[in-house]
Amino acid sequence: MSGSACHTSIGDEKHTVHWFRKGLRLHDNPSLKEGIKGAKTIRCVFVLDPWFAGSSSVGINKWRLFVIRGQPADALPKLFKEWGTTVLTFEEDPEPFGRVRDHNITALCNELGITVIQRVSHTLYHLEDIIERNGGKAPLTYNQFLAIIATMGPPPKPELPVYGWHNGAYTPLSDDHDDKYGVPTLEELGFDTEGSNPPTWLGGESESLARLERHLERKAWVASFGRPKMTPQSLLPSQTGLSPYLRFGCLSTRLFYYQLTDLYKKIKKAFPPLSLHGQLLWREFFYCAATKNSNFDKMLGNPICVQIPWDKNAAALAKWANGQTGFPWIDAIMTQLRQEGWIHHIARHAVACFLTRGDLWISWEEGMKVFEELLLDADWSVNAGTWMWLSCSSFFQQFFHCYCPVKFGRKADPNGDYIRKYLPILKNMPVQYIHEPWLAPEKIQQSAKCIIGKDYPLPMVNHTVACRINIQRMKQVYQQLKNYQIIENAKCERKEQDGNATVVMSDY
Ligand code: FAD
Ligand code: MG
Repeated sequence: MSGSACHTSIGDEKHTVHWFRKGLRLHDNPSLKEGIKGAKTIRCVFVLDPWFAGSSSVGINKWRLFVIRGQPADALPKLFKEWGTTVLTFEEDPEPFGRVRDHNITALCNELGITVIQRVSHTLYHLEDIIERNGGKAPLTYNQFLAIIATMGPPPKPELPVYGWHNGAYTPLSDDHDDKYGVPTLEELGFDTEGSNPPTWLGGESESLARLERHLERKAWVASFGRPKMTPQSLLPSQTGLSPYLRFGCLSTRLFYYQLTDLYKKIKKAFPPLSLHGQLLWREFFYCAATKNSNFDKMLGNPICVQIPWDKNAAALAKWANGQTGFPWIDAIMTQLRQEGWIHHIARHAVACFLTRGDLWISWEEGMKVFEELLLDADWSVNAGTWMWLSCSSFFQQFFHCYCPVKFGRKADPNGDYIRKYLPILKNMPVQYIHEPWLAPEKIQQSAKCIIGKDYPLPMVNHTVACRINIQRMKQVYQQLKNYQIIENAKCERKEQDGNATVVMSDY
């Protein structure tokens, strides 16, 4: 995986630049380790591409970071010359956009005589190996995917943290380092932070490791005492949530994988089944499906996406995105997403189904974009893949069950505590009506100080009617596609994804 091997070095000295993008960590960072090995100087850079400003969470402790603003292809070569760089290291980016960017930078480095070293560490496996074993195509069912993984053996073990490495590589800093390369504030980046809440999630590697420990303690408890029950508490941000940390690579998937393995062996004194690693493998599955499909996040030109004739309805989309649908369960979820940047897996199911095949018949692409903007864990491959899944556009086709925004809500949040937290306007609504407040008699609305249609919206659709029509529409689409290969594939995929709590479509 290393690029050019030619060296124009200053008296054969190794001067490394390590380029952080994802992989914001010191543990299990093989490309960084490779860069430090035998180096005289090591400079760690993070390029703040203006295009990404909104989503970047810069959280590398303990390193003096050079934060550079501009396009990587412009900014980096200038600095390489200034710094006499001989080696560039970075984590291999499996996503199509990153692959193109890295291909271009590698070509530039070849011209400059700079050695490029890339290593796989964002995913468990080198995804191309999985694809190769499947005849050059990404497996499109999870079972097929698991069957291939089973022939590959366990993924490589995580590497030790680089701070254990004392080999004399140093970071040259100038007096004006902070002015030139400091981490910018949100205000400097043009965000209006007045009145915004303190963040619910802290960034960084240390936080991710502390969370991993708590997550494993909880798993150990669960392994000894039974399956976790879904409670309304599960909907709230948890101190064991890991997805934003995996997305930015503050936490290594491989570390997570092997700690789960160790834990299982300790408790069960046996070799763990592949299913123990289910959630991490689902992540890997979507990454694998997306890595060679640059249109994975689009309907058009996406060979695995069923072309469903969705409606365009900007007003309805805005109501959904802003938590104004009139269904408290849906609106509370969208409010939590906007305020805190994270929602539970089953909550994602609820709002994704509502927007697409369930109620509004709006394209999954629109929902995915809203998630992309608001989710801290927004992950190109996983986000697009699960949206296609939920909207029956790929991977899955059980369109004859829709989630009911009232029944599903009642099951997940029977007393309405979750709704009251995120929609305080409904806080005095009696339990009986909290999931369908439009049914509350006028007198009750008055005493709850919440008039439906005035203080809180009326439901924007009649769910029973909308869902019946949409199931018919979906049936037509699928009848026309009867012999289509994707559909044949999806037929094997009857089982719903297994989240923290198992969700069975027909339950709601
Ligand atoms: P845990 O349940 O503790 O799982 C650990 C890790 O496994 C997660 O951090 C994640 O990396 C991975 N994982 C868990 N469930 C899934 C899954 N179903 N598919 C793929 N990977 C999974 N997850 C993202 O990380 N980024 C996204 O952009 C994203 N978008 C989603 C959009 C929709 C419409 C749906 C239905 C799900 C989406 N998910 C996404 C998957 C899942 O909801 C989240 O990973 C999970 O809720 C995060 O909570 P956790 O950290 O407690 O995860
Ligand atoms: Mg978790």
